[in-house]
Amino acid sequence: MLGLMQDYQLTVQTILDHAALNHGEREMVTRSIEGPIRRTTYQDIRERALCVAKALQKEGIGIGDRIATMAWNTDRHVEIWYGIMGLGAICHTVNPRLFAEQLVYIVNHAEDKMLFVDLTFVPIVEAIADKLPTIQKYIIMTDDAHMPETSLPNVITYETWLAASDADFTWGVFDENTASSLCYTSGTTGNPKGVLYSHRSNVLHGLMCNQPDVLGINSNDNILPIVPMFHANAWAITYAVPAAGASLIMPGAGMDGKSIYELLDSEKVSASAAVPTVWLGLLQYLEENDLALPYLDRVLIGGAACPRMMIETLENKYDVEVIHGWGMTEMSPVGTTGKLKHATEHLRGDERVKLKLRQGRTPYMVEMKIIDDEGNDLPRDGATSGHLLVRGPAISKAYFKHDEEILDQDDWFDTGDIANIDELGYMQITDRDKDVIKSGGEWISSIEIENTAVGCEGVAEAAVIGIAHPKWTERPLLIILRKEDSEVSAADVLAYLDGKIATWWMPDGVEFVDEIPHTATGKIQKMTLREQFGGYAFKAPD
Ligand code: AMP
Repeated sequence: MLGLMQDYQLTVQTILDHAALNHGEREMVTRSIEGPIRRTTYQDIRERALCVAKALQKEGIGIGDRIATMAWNTDRHVEIWYGIMGLGAICHTVNPRLFAEQLVYIVNHAEDKMLFVDLTFVPIVEAIADKLPTIQKYIIMTDDAHMPETSLPNVITYETWLAASDADFTWGVFDENTASSLCYTSGTTGNPKGVLYSHRSNVLHGLMCNQPDVLGINSNDNILPIVPMFHANAWAITYAVPAAGASLIMPGAGMDGKSIYELLDSEKVSASAAVPTVWLGLLQYLEENDLALPYLDRVLIGGAACPRMMIETLENKYDVEVIHGWGMTEMSPVGTTGKLKHATEHLRGDERVKLKLRQGRTPYMVEMKIIDDEGNDLPRDGATSGHLLVRGPAISKAYFKHDEEILDQDDWFDTGDIANIDELGYMQITDRDKDVIKSGGEWISSIEIENTAVGCEGVAEAAVIGIAHPKWTERPLLIILRKEDSEVSAADVLAYLDGKIATWWMPDGVEFVDEIPHTATGKIQKMTLREQFGGYAFKAPD
């Protein structure tokens, strides 16, 4: 027997409708790409999102079509995002930090029909536009007064395009399981893979993140999502914040300590979210200028392990609560947060910091467990490490246009992380099974660097591991086994790599060894290498 409740569809445009109706006066404040701070409201954002949807429909866009954005966190990006999804089309947030071949691959793989691009990224798009046959129109997210000279074909400014539309439009009507958005994530090898979110998964995930033990957003909050919308939905903030009626403060392109501090202060930001590298920049700026954070109440730090110094400084010196979080694009992305709970609230000093260094516990709607190599469940004893598996309503079951099975028979998804879980449910990442390095919140594929490096004369084998780095969290170290009688040097190898991999992938160090350890199946034993080079420090450049 089915329940007798309404078939109200959990579609994301209902969030914006709710915000406009009940918190219509609430502000969204943007550091615009053109420079000045721009202020708008949820009511305006909804009107303009409806204009976007209507204009898209006029362009022939409909349910299921993919529309790309390459943009910072701004009010315009939010209206475009809701406009696309509210029509039933799919918002493909493109990460501009991918390198050119990857950008070409993902736009073609997604078969995006239009591309909205911020001024900052126009040169990136111009360089690849001739390889993007599916894009019918480029929309530069500015007004005519700021229109740059551009070689892009079929191009118009956003404000001119929008002015030809109006808000007399009704959102699309479709099932809550309809795809809403697409985000590509770089795998260990090969091309990035598309994570295809649904309206339902986004609404549920947004609500999950509103829980008090996650970000606990309420209508009095002013929230600054520094984590970009092209990084897995800005960690659900662009759904969770309008749903709560809180104010959204959008940083635009200003990711440096000074710009972030200015917004935290002038907009009395109460909560924010970013990867550790961004917080490091802010802490340095505060220190150098002897500043305080009187309004900031809590920050979500994740995407990479939050260092001890950051927790101690933010909590003890600036009185800001650190919520250490973990997740991944495939999880929408939030998986755990490290809020204290009834059984841990009393912890003080070192014990408290140690708990906060763990990646945290799951909110309702994420299930998590660890297993050994044979698939047996492992105990939650805080010591035994195993493969970290997850499942829930906002976790991927497949990649876009990929046949490959990614769930086991019980629907568990292997995160590729190695972790232990303690008796109270707090998880700690202890290693990584997947062969990648995360630097400043972006992936570097170790395998790609290795495969390229072995092409260098005199290199027999190459292995790349991540080494802890104070600013970037991790940087690549290239470990080389020379061919017999070869005298290939670090400079030779680096010169060989130059131009063959992205510049920010270039290893920060090269070390030579007599042997590279292998597993029984012939794979390089990265864990052994990571132990061998534990405590390694990169030499300062000459
Ligand atoms: P992404 O899909 O780019 O968000 O990357 C997800 C991956 O980032 C996870 O599977 C982890 O390997 C890593 N990660 C995310 N948050 C943390 C964290 N707090 N500590 C350590 N690693 C993390």
